[in-house]
Order: sequence, then C-alpha cells, then structure tokens
Amino acid sequence: MKLIKVLPFCIFLIFIKNAYSNEFNSNQLVISNVNVVDVETGKVISNQDVTISDKLIKSVNKYEKKKQSKESKIIDGSGKYLIPGLWDAHVHSVTNRDWHFPLMIAHGITSVRNLHTSEKEGFKLIKQIKKETESGAVIGPRFIANGYIIDGVSPMWPGTIAITDPGKVKEAVSSLKNQGADFLKVYSSIQPDIFRAIMAEAHLQNIPVDGHIPMMVDPIEAASFGMRTSEHMIGMTIGCSKDIDKVREKIQNYEKNGWGEFPQSFINFIKLRQQMARTADKERCNKVIDAYLEHQLVMTPTLINQLTWLDNNEQVKLTSDESVMSLLPESVRKDWVLMANRPPLIKEIVDYPFNVFELAAKRNVKMLAGTDIGNLFLVPGYSLLSEMILMTEQGATNLQVLQSATINPAEVFGFDSLGLIKAGYFADLVLLDANPLDDMNNIKQVNSVVRNGRYLSSKDLYALKLKAKNWKPESNQD
Ligand SMILES: [Zn+2]
Repeated sequence: MKLIKVLPFCIFLIFIKNAYSNEFNSNQLVISNVNVVDVETGKVISNQDVTISDKLIKSVNKYEKKKQSKESKIIDGSGKYLIPGLWDAHVHSVTNRDWHFPLMIAHGITSVRNLHTSEKEGFKLIKQIKKETESGAVIGPRFIANGYIIDGVSPMWPGTIAITDPGKVKEAVSSLKNQGADFLKVYSSIQPDIFRAIMAEAHLQNIPVDGHIPMMVDPIEAASFGMRTSEHMIGMTIGCSKDIDKVREKIQNYEKNGWGEFPQSFINFIKLRQQMARTADKERCNKVIDAYLEHQLVMTPTLINQLTWLDNNEQVKLTSDESVMSLLPESVRKDWVLMANRPPLIKEIVDYPFNVFELAAKRNVKMLAGTDIGNLFLVPGYSLLSEMILMTEQGATNLQVLQSATINPAEVFGFDSLGLIKAGYFADLVLLDANPLDDMNNIKQVNSVVRNGRYLSSKDLYALKLKAKNWKPESNQD
C-alpha cells in the first residue's frame, strides 16, 4: 500500500529531472559554422562545427548543414567567434558567491582561482561550491582555492594563519593540505626564514605555492625556490628598486612599532611604494625578469585592481558609468558611491607596476589574467574583461592576453583538458560577436556561454545579471 503511494511520486520526480536536463543539456549541442579561435597559435579557423556532448567537446569539424533534431540542439555560430571559457585567476568570492557567480558566468568567466576567505567554515564552503558548480546545481565557475592565507608578524586579513616560528610550518602546511587546499598562498609580512621553511615543506608535501612575494624576501630567491605565481607585480616592484634595503628597514621598523592609525598607516604604506617607484632601475628589473623566466614563475598583474583602487579619478569614472553600476546589487552600489570620494592618490605609484608589467610582457613572462574581485570597485566578470583590455593597452599582445585567461591558467593550475577548443576537452566556451585577436575590446561582446556543456543564451545571461542585481545581503546564508 505504501509503495503504491510512493511510486507515482518517484516517477513524477524522474520526469521533472529529465525535463530539466533536456532543457539545458540536449544530448548533443552543435555550435554550427563558427570561427574557432585557436589560442595556442593565434589562428582563426573558419566554418567549423563544434559538437558538445555531456560536459565535453566531442568533435571540431568542417561545417555541414544540419537540421535541428531531438538529439541535437543547433546554435548558429555564423559570423561569430568561439573562444575557450575565461579564467579570473585572482578572486575572493566565497562569501559573496551568490551575486559574484551569476555575473562571472554572464561575462564568460567559467573558472576562477579563489585566494583566501575569512569564513570560519571556509573549507566546508569551498567543498560545497565545487560540488554544486560541477554538478550544475548552481550555475557558477570551476573553482580552485587555497582556503586561508599564510602570513607573518602582522597579518592583514581575518582568518589568516600567522607563522613566526619555523617550527610551526609543517603543521600549517599539512593542515591546509588535509582540509583540501589546492595550493598555498603566502603573504607580504612573512620573514625570509619562514618563507624558506614554507617552500621546503610545500615541496616535500607536493603542494604549489602562490601569492605575494613577501616584502622581506628577494624575488630572485622566491623564483629560484619554485614559487608558482606572483600576484599584483609585487615581486618585480620590490626587485627593481635600488632603495629596497632602505625600504625594508622602514618596513621592519613599522612592523615593530606599528603602522599607525588609519589613514596614517595607509599614507606610510603609499610613501614606501613611492620610494620604490622613484628608485626603479631597468637593469635590476631585467635581472628579476631573468629569474621569472628561468624558474617559470608566472605573474598575475591585476592591473585593474591597482588602477581602480589607487586612482580616485578611475573611481569617479566608474561610479558615474550607469552601464557598470546597473550590474551591482543595491547595497554594493551604495558602498561604492560613498567610497569613491576618498582623497586622490599619487599617480606615480599606479604607473610603476604598469611600467614594470610592460617590460615583463615584452620579455614574454608568462601571465595570468586576474582581478582581485571582492575588493571595492571591481565587478565580477566585467572587470576581468577590462583587465584584458588594460593588459593590451599596456603593451601585451592580443594573443598573450587571450592566453593569459585560457590556456595559461589551465596549464599552470594543472588542468590537462581545459583551455583549448579540442575534442575531449571540457566544454567551457564563450561565443563572441567579434574577434578579440583583432581588437581586445571585442572581448566585451559576449553573445552566449557554454559552461560544462550547458548552453546559456543571451537571454539566460541577462537573467543571470538580474539575479546578481537583485541580491540582498540578508539573503546571503553564510
Ligand atoms: Zn587578492
């Protein structure tokens, strides 16, 4: 009797499940007659049919006229350009994932590297995010994460693991690894002896080390110790300065006696950056770049963060651009308008990392496109596209930049079947209305997105933008 009552309900559930998966994942999806952008060579292969089945690219063949059928959904790609899904290699999205993720996907960002969360239950949330985004229960990017930052004497962020005793390194590395960290992130105030101990222990435990090259550590040494990525151009801006020893002396002093009350603490910090900018030396810079190239240390410049965070004019420009502001939830929008009226800062400290980036890009240092989403004046998804444009304006080629958001992160983070449009690769794709190899501004012309084989039309992307805009802080369940 009970079974008879339950059975129809189960059948109903199976029906609902199939209806859902058919809607988003017909057995096969064909993006037909499209220009495929090969990000490895920079060539465009025209008139291609890209067939997707489940989560994978099944084939890439010459175009043949086909009809819609129950088995295959055909998307007309004629006149459009297909690129691999984009990575934002520097985000902080665990807490605000409910509005970050829809905006990321809506702008073609299908993978991210998260570089710290201050959530107490950080690793539990990271596991949940990975599970939900991979199964498709939540439309969000592929997600890799370190969990918590390792820092030294004066940690800046809540949730940081502060280490001042080399004897504590082994325990910290094991603990992060055992909880599921994909890599470690080191931070600015780690002392050289602790840094060396972390690198040695990470090597033993076979876990990569990304992050800030600590202020007290020589970037050439950091490269030779096998750090994987260096964030925000910090390594080079330290290494290029002839005055670095004097700057370090001052830092040690501040660490001992305190940086002062805000805003004095910030002014003190800015003055040090100014001193480094004024004493930059090209020959020294080239030596640091030599070390990056020799040891394959990869840079994540995050130029957009340095620009929008440090340059008050950019903040005013951004907050008066309705096409950008209309993407944001109301509460975030209000914060931005309030904060955009901070006093203007000194332009030379923004120019410095930009100039160093130009030198490094010319010498072909491997780079990753990243933003630092989670900070003020950065819009999930949208800012990554702005970063890509900024990188080309600063001397990188269109191909270098396209690689920095596709094949480079896939390779650096160890994904064999990601970052190219090739049979057997994961079907994370972006369909653009124009060719980004002609002009990087075309990267903003996102027509539709495929995430893990699921096709999201321009209408679906619009709905995702609305979802982000309607997000309210109290709906955040963290
Ligand atoms: Zn960051």
